[in-house]
Amino acid sequence: MTMTFDDLALAPAILKALAEAGYKTPTPIQAQSIPLLLQGRDLLGMAQTGTGKTASFALPLLHRLAANPRPAPKNGARVLVLAPTRELVSQIADGFEAFGSHLNFSVTTIFGGVSQFHQVNALQDGVDIIVAAPGRLLDLIEQGLCDLSNLEALVLDEADQMLDMGFAKPIEKIVAATPGERHTILFSATMPKSIAALVDSLLSDPAKVEIAPPSTTVDRIEQTVMFLDAEHKKAALLSLLSAPDVGQAVVFTLQKNIANEVCSHITEAGITAEALHGNKSQGQRERALEAFREGRARVLVATDIAARGIDVDTVTHVVNHDLPSLPEAYVHRIGRTGRAGRSGRAITLCDAEQRAWLHDVERTIGRALTVHENHEWHCEKARYSTARAPVLGGGPVKKIKEPKVRERKVWTEEEKAAARAAAMANRAN
Ligand code: AMP
Repeated sequence: MTMTFDDLALAPAILKALAEAGYKTPTPIQAQSIPLLLQGRDLLGMAQTGTGKTASFALPLLHRLAANPRPAPKNGARVLVLAPTRELVSQIADGFEAFGSHLNFSVTTIFGGVSQFHQVNALQDGVDIIVAAPGRLLDLIEQGLCDLSNLEALVLDEADQMLDMGFAKPIEKIVAATPGERHTILFSATMPKSIAALVDSLLSDPAKVEIAPPSTTVDRIEQTVMFLDAEHKKAALLSLLSAPDVGQAVVFTLQKNIANEVCSHITEAGITAEALHGNKSQGQRERALEAFREGRARVLVATDIAARGIDVDTVTHVVNHDLPSLPEAYVHRIGRTGRAGRSGRAITLCDAEQRAWLHDVERTIGRALTVHENHEWHCEKARYSTARAPVLGGGPVKKIKEPKVRERKVWTEEEKAAARAAAMANRAN
């Protein structure tokens, strides 16, 4: 018999919100994680976005907060969720708000690139749930504006991505500001040694839940590769995007400048498109995502880091204009389609130079991509190329990292004084 949310013994107010959100049956990660988390177990979840992992921690945490009502601690929170990007932070907060819509909870987001003024204001009286990117949260802690000493539960979402983005130290410092006695949950799509070490240091006798390693979660996505010369990529891309079965597509490029070029090229051909990458301001990124979500843009052209966490269920196609230099990124990329049980298609454009990276991808996913050779640009030379992988930026190829943008707002003296006064007043209370 299929399990339902009722079987998971969640609070009626949560069940009502789930019904309104159209959730009927728990996904596998939810079915496995929720009972363990309701028992208060620490949890290590190996799952990527698209599996329903947000609800798998949000629902039991909301349930536990509702079952033990108490005021949120001043300048702090009862639950903290750390996530790597602003987009993911916002999505997780939206999830808590939706699932908790019939409960009386406050949720606030904390991330860089915007003034900290409102974030500090929101924290003053305490909030039940903070969803935060590590950099800005640590700033607030170090300024004495956020106090996590009464935290009950800590979630690290997409922990591997946070470490890749250089957040190991900030995470360590944030965790040090939380009580040792806490409920800790960690999700990661991959399990490199650095994550295993983090798990050992943060989680206490954790239950482990693994939802199909990435190579199999993407099984319902049809994956093909087109071999061609680099100079033909734009023409091939345009032809692919013009096919009648393409609803919405995400196009991945290796670098920000290529994303801009590709976006202009597509737009000039009359296809609505937006570019999303680390050089865009917070406002531009939000507007681009909104245009895509609302269908005003059919195509989103993105680099890897910027696209992490894009959660748009209507994406029918992912096109890799470039292979990623890290094979795991391929799995994350194609996971932008085939969401919420739908099928999807992922097409990779591979030139001779990037052939080596395709080998890495195929090794990682455990199979060769189906070759689509019936097109005018097919190039056997690229297919059988033995060229060494390109070297990015002149050094050894390790990771494509977008420079960390510390978009910090310069505070006015008045804002600083107001925040200080408010923090003092709170401390005095
Ligand atoms: P996530 O992995 O948390 O990013 O969720 C992926 C997508 O699946 C989101 O659009 C969710 O709204 C949707 N989703 C998650 N759990 C369920 C469920 N039990 N039933 C239907 N949709 C779900």
